[in-house]
Amino acid sequence: MQTYSNSVNGQAVEAADHQEILNPATGDSIGLAPISTESDVGFAVNTARKAQLNWARVSDQEKRDTIVRVTRVLEENSEYLAELITREQGKPLSGPGSRFEMQACVGWTQVPAALELPPEIVYEDEERKDVLHRVPLGVVAAIAPWNWPLMIAIWQIIPSIRMGNTVVIKPSEYTPIATLEMVRLINQVLPPGVLNTVSGDGRIGAALTSHPDIDKIMFTGSEATGRRIIEASTRSLAPITLELGGNDAAIVLPGTDADAIAEGLFWGAFLNMGQTCACIKRLYVHDSDYEAVVNALSNLAQQMPIGDGMDEKNLIGPLQNEMQYNKVKDLVADARANGCEVMEFGTIPDTGYFLPLTLVGNIRDGQRLVDEEQFGPALPVIRYQSLDEAVASANRLDAGLGASVWADDLEQAQQVAVRLEAGTVWINQHGAIHPMVPFGGNKASGYGVEFGLEGLKAVTQPRVISIKK
Ligand code: NAD
Repeated sequence: MQTYSNSVNGQAVEAADHQEILNPATGDSIGLAPISTESDVGFAVNTARKAQLNWARVSDQEKRDTIVRVTRVLEENSEYLAELITREQGKPLSGPGSRFEMQACVGWTQVPAALELPPEIVYEDEERKDVLHRVPLGVVAAIAPWNWPLMIAIWQIIPSIRMGNTVVIKPSEYTPIATLEMVRLINQVLPPGVLNTVSGDGRIGAALTSHPDIDKIMFTGSEATGRRIIEASTRSLAPITLELGGNDAAIVLPGTDADAIAEGLFWGAFLNMGQTCACIKRLYVHDSDYEAVVNALSNLAQQMPIGDGMDEKNLIGPLQNEMQYNKVKDLVADARANGCEVMEFGTIPDTGYFLPLTLVGNIRDGQRLVDEEQFGPALPVIRYQSLDEAVASANRLDAGLGASVWADDLEQAQQVAVRLEAGTVWINQHGAIHPMVPFGGNKASGYGVEFGLEGLKAVTQPRVISIKK
């Protein structure tokens, strides 16, 4: 069985302890992932601290060139890493699966390499000139989840190093191997110590985020962990980018052509088996269109091949882990017990954490499947009578990551969109993130944004040079 390692200072680090990682589709072993200790965390942070002094001094052009070399490494190893993602995380190679995740890794590396944050004159008159410089923060602690393990790691790593920081990243304990391998490969072109890993569960995450010598925390994961990280950061006073859970509402406006939007709605809800932060998790449809929308979604769902994602024909894989599998089953059972209509599609294999694609009708606000983030392939479809009622429903929960409005009339859609409380409101698409467009949550979905120039600013500190003329 293959044993994988952490990388610190560009070298593989031996671990005393390991955990076996199993394929969620088959139960087969993928290999042994290291479990770090608190002292490993200290070593990684100290290494990143020393490396940061040199990396910050490297010219801007050299940093950009280095990140272009990272892009090439990702492209050259794309198939190897995509297969690891599929075997470890479960999303299929095909469709919007692990090859798609690798394309995103490349795109989210190319864009920061092309962006610049030059000094900016913020004020000038006859007597003074004030110039805002963006300087590195120092050492970034990055904590990643298991749903899009490599793409989210790249979101955290690349802007940080682009702006002269160094990074210690901890992947999720459910999906460490692909990330550790990606970092090992990237390190072939990065100076030693610029990118380091530790691995293990929340205890190692807590050791990293409470370390007094870190300067920034990038966190993507659940709201509960986000709150713990805020408390942990009081030792270092490190600023935090918090990308937390969502419970995105989609509203289909009355009279919208159901067939035209069905595919967008389907993948908006079932991308990565619904294990996506900004997925449609509540679908609000006007009473008069309800049957048409449910029929169009049902037609698509029953055609989707479900199975082991290593088989190129499959477009839908398993849930990633037992905890998530049980959570989704429990929410669907609760809906069924409360008289909802549970519509299940697809033939699922006997082994692995597979669930059928599920639409749940005859359901209302206040029921658990609507109010809790299911993070799985069970979509509640809720009827509404008036647009005001649909907007109030969409806004009534604490979560505020994404939302979407679906309509033939774009003007009307925009009027509804501005009333929705979310970091991004998409129109006739959902979860359509882009590396140039800032992305982040409102309300309990977190704060701070990633991507584009705003994302680069978030991994710098402003320093003003104020000159008397
Ligand atoms: P999680 O919070 O359980 O774990 C995320 C990471 O935090 C893991 O690496 C875990 O080991 C680590 N961790 C756990 N306890 C910690 C602690 N006390 N201190 C520091 N680190 C700790 O989340 P998850 O189950 O891996 O991910 C699913 C959640 O992430 C969902 O709610 C989803 O919506 C959210 N998510 C949000 C975004 C976004 O961009 N807003 C993107 C993807 C996922």
